[in-house]
Amino acid sequence: MKIFSVLITLLLPLHLLAQNKPSVNAAKDYTMAVAWQQHSGEYKALCFQAYNFARLSLDYRLKMADTSKRNCIVVDIDETVLDNSPFQGHEIKNGVSYDPKDWSDWTGRSAADTVPGALSFLNYARSRKVETYYITNREQSDYTATLKNLQRFGFPDADDAHLLVKTTTSDKEARRQKVLERYHILLLCGDNLSDFSNVFYREGKNTGEQVSKFSEEFGSHFIVLPNPMYGDWEKLLYRGEHLNESEKAKQRAEGLKGYY
Ligand SMILES: [Mg+2]
Repeated sequence: MKIFSVLITLLLPLHLLAQNKPSVNAAKDYTMAVAWQQHSGEYKALCFQAYNFARLSLDYRLKMADTSKRNCIVVDIDETVLDNSPFQGHEIKNGVSYDPKDWSDWTGRSAADTVPGALSFLNYARSRKVETYYITNREQSDYTATLKNLQRFGFPDADDAHLLVKTTTSDKEARRQKVLERYHILLLCGDNLSDFSNVFYREGKNTGEQVSKFSEEFGSHFIVLPNPMYGDWEKLLYRGEHLNESEKAKQRAEGLKGYY
């Protein structure tokens, strides 16, 4: 019994030390963000708010639209029509940082749920004879499983003609231009500013300033969905390349505004 107690006393500090030691592969510190997306009524309410605005705006734009081309809506997929928060939850629970293999495993399951309000809005658009284009930066290797995920819920236009995945660049402008050759784009829906226009995409741009310049587009032409977990906005906080999660966490903390 005494030997057992001594062993426990000796091993406990080692265990605590291991817990406190920052690991380069540790999961991103976004527990609050993932919890908020998964459990808050406010997240759900904001999604409904976005898609309710989208519906009002669509009705308005349909009245104004000319008839020289067909009408469509362009939507992003991740955190716009599909909710991937279980993937982030998996990272946190397993203490691992982002790995493309894990992401492929997740998308390959076609298991993402819908973002609140998305399906109902896009079905409404279909009832008004407005097509939906899905422009996503998911990879070609995710193509079939992505379609399957959308089809599982009966998303309109979930087919080869309407799904445009990433090929050479994450800049979506070329894909939007391709759609514009044949359609009027009445609305764009996304959680990341580059889902709307490449004025937000270019390197080195202060996105806050750009958003102010285009303030009237939000809620009318651009419909923004909440995503507290990740986005291009983070890049503005990081200095240097190939940073591990510990370094990123440190730089994020350094970038916070405080007061003295
Ligand atoms: Mg997205």
